[in-house]
Amino acid sequence: MEWEAVIGLEVHAQLSTKSKIFSGAATAYGALPNTQACFIDLGMPGVLPVLNKEAVVMAARFGLAIGARVEKRSVFARKNYFYPDLPKGYQISQFEHPIVSQGKLDIIVDENTTKTIEIIRAHLEEDAGKSLHENFQGMSGIDLNRAGTPLLEIVSAPEMRSAKEAVAYLKTLHTLVRYLGICDGNMQEGSFRCDANVSVRPKGQEKLGTRTETKNVNSFRFVEKAINYEIERQIQVLESGGKIVQETRLYDADKNITRSMRAKEDANDYRYFPDPDLLPLVLSDEFIAAVKSQLPELPQEKAERFQTQYGLSAYDAMNLISDMALADYFETVAAGTAKHDQKTYAKLAANWIMGDLSAFLNKENKEIGQSPVSASQLQGLLNRIMDNTISGKIAKTVFETLWEAGGNADEIIKQKGLIQITDSTLINALIDEVIAVHPEQVAEYRSGKEKLFGFFVGQMMKKTQGKANPDEVNKLLKTKLNG
Ligand code: ADP
Ligand code: MG
Repeated sequence: MEWEAVIGLEVHAQLSTKSKIFSGAATAYGALPNTQACFIDLGMPGVLPVLNKEAVVMAARFGLAIGARVEKRSVFARKNYFYPDLPKGYQISQFEHPIVSQGKLDIIVDENTTKTIEIIRAHLEEDAGKSLHENFQGMSGIDLNRAGTPLLEIVSAPEMRSAKEAVAYLKTLHTLVRYLGICDGNMQEGSFRCDANVSVRPKGQEKLGTRTETKNVNSFRFVEKAINYEIERQIQVLESGGKIVQETRLYDADKNITRSMRAKEDANDYRYFPDPDLLPLVLSDEFIAAVKSQLPELPQEKAERFQTQYGLSAYDAMNLISDMALADYFETVAAGTAKHDQKTYAKLAANWIMGDLSAFLNKENKEIGQSPVSASQLQGLLNRIMDNTISGKIAKTVFETLWEAGGNADEIIKQKGLIQITDSTLINALIDEVIAVHPEQVAEYRSGKEKLFGFFVGQMMKKTQGKANPDEVNKLLKTKLNG
């Protein structure tokens, strides 16, 4: 039997407001336990929550960016449950009337596949506190600093069909919230976390299978692994005649498994009701228009502009825009084209940034903002490739020197004597020398062993320490060998 996976994601994006959603306490990460929780966050008797306007602006900004409805009237509701990190006994959330509904997000799954995922809703809510288990014996600690931190819960339709699509969706969303400046996206600190709902069904069946929800997976890699594990597990259960239980599961990154945490609650277990302490949230047309007028260039718009303005492929554009700082870096480099064909230059810049530069950054775990090679230094290097002073291969050596020792490409090329040999008379003379010392290979080549061509190219490069212009070498070698 062939199975199809169905995945829907719930993402909690922590909104980057300075203070909490219903109180004036600070939201800064990493403070000593319980130093940032005020009476309101603790739900003391007699206190009243006051809605943070900035959180509303951020939610509206998100809604407008995904082409959703930003509701002029939404309602805060109490979601009742008991847990030690929730002293009020309820979480303030939105239930029947969320602030954002019916949006869409276009994702690029790979070089040949794009897909549009529906975002059913996004609602505002407060975060709970945290239970601490380390450093306590036979008891747990409770840190309420996080209680009342504003969250936007973003709920997708069950429209993803593989872990890969789920990760593509998450990354697109992650890029978007950072562009919008509404969430710092820090997954390690829990500012952007994801619950993965997974089910499987026989291919061709319309009815959805029973799902499980795997909680709080805190990196893209773990999301992918947790989903793949869960798909395999469910298929095995079903194929051996078992049934999937609707439940909440936890991902264990050390063992790469998910395990059952608790039976899944239904909405009615929470006894939702409108919070009597908070008025319905009403937004005016002017408010929504003002938020709209302040939207930045969105990732997708930037990606489209990169394709038309610089002639990049959709895939290259997507990679470059994934991080706003990276996109800015690219544009600074690409601006240095005065003397060259702009599209060739831009493509070269894109290749270098996503290739060598990204590899070096990854190796040293650096962000683009910490790159030892600045945009203008890279520009200096690309200019010398464009005007054929150096080959792409030699450029890699120059880049390494730029990275490690700084300076500029022209100096390095001069100091190390790396200027490319393009003079055809000189190249021909060198070819004659190579041919003279390898009569056997020449004979073999001429009797049909064409694979040996690479051998001669290799000899030429060795002889010139890689400085001979490869196109010229290829052309002249062919003439000589065939002649
Ligand atoms: P709840 O509020 O109980 O978590 P929802 O119906 O709001 O349930 O759905 C939550 C998430 O689960 C959504 O992202 C949705 O796409 C996803 N989902 C719902 N049913 C399935 C299913 N059968 N398989 C996979 N995902 C599902
Ligand atoms: Mg849920």
